[in-house]
Amino acid sequence: MEVTALIARSAARSINPPLRGARRCLSGAGTELFPVQVELALRRTAESGWRLDDDDDYCRRCGASIGPHASMPDGCARCVARGLRWNRLVRLGPYRQPLSRWILDLKFAGSWCWATWMGRHLGRLVIDTPRGRRTVVCPVPIPWQRQIRRGYNQSALIADAFAARCEWPVVPLLLRTRYAPPQSALAASLRTRNVRRSFAVRGMDLSGWDVWLVDDVKTTGSTLSACAKLLKRAGVARINVAVAAVA
Ligand SMILES: [Zn+2]
Repeated sequence: MEVTALIARSAARSINPPLRGARRCLSGAGTELFPVQVELALRRTAESGWRLDDDDDYCRRCGASIGPHASMPDGCARCVARGLRWNRLVRLGPYRQPLSRWILDLKFAGSWCWATWMGRHLGRLVIDTPRGRRTVVCPVPIPWQRQIRRGYNQSALIADAFAARCEWPVVPLLLRTRYAPPQSALAASLRTRNVRRSFAVRGMDLSGWDVWLVDDVKTTGSTLSACAKLLKRAGVARINVAVAAVA
């Protein structure tokens, strides 16, 4: 299947409709009120001095927190020689409170509105990207067992809002090929092995396309690296990464 055909199909819903209904019932009125809760939470954290990252707060390549002016276009001192498989990374902040709590609420408490907020703000960071290139947004997939249990893939929800803000299509180019335990449950040294052979790219020629990979959290980068490797092999020209937080 061609990318353009997938784009056309990409009313591809990130949430399975019956599960979405069930989830909405389970989370009840809280889900409907959540936009208000988001506003209140943001107001409280703004009063406490919390803010989204500025350009100088992190490396635009690996996403690590750095001091002012320490990031060059090719990366920071930590990553410049590491041969990262993506070209650019944007994030909202480090994986610390309150962002970490909001991500956990999104993943485990059905608080989807955080995905909308995160995706829109990530989109705002890349709105200056030159147009004219063929670009798609691809969420990092989660194992189907987890998607059924949770009812949705939080990265796909963030990707939807991100893509809508940037007016790019969301295309699920990647598939999960086997179950792997959550990366967060493993030591850093085991994470690369854990995601090995866990992903596949849909059989298609992606030559000349740019892809924005979207995930909720980057920790060691093993998952993003595994995905980027496959996309590169399929011919993707530029791979960029948008994550809500970097641990
Ligand atoms: Zn770096």
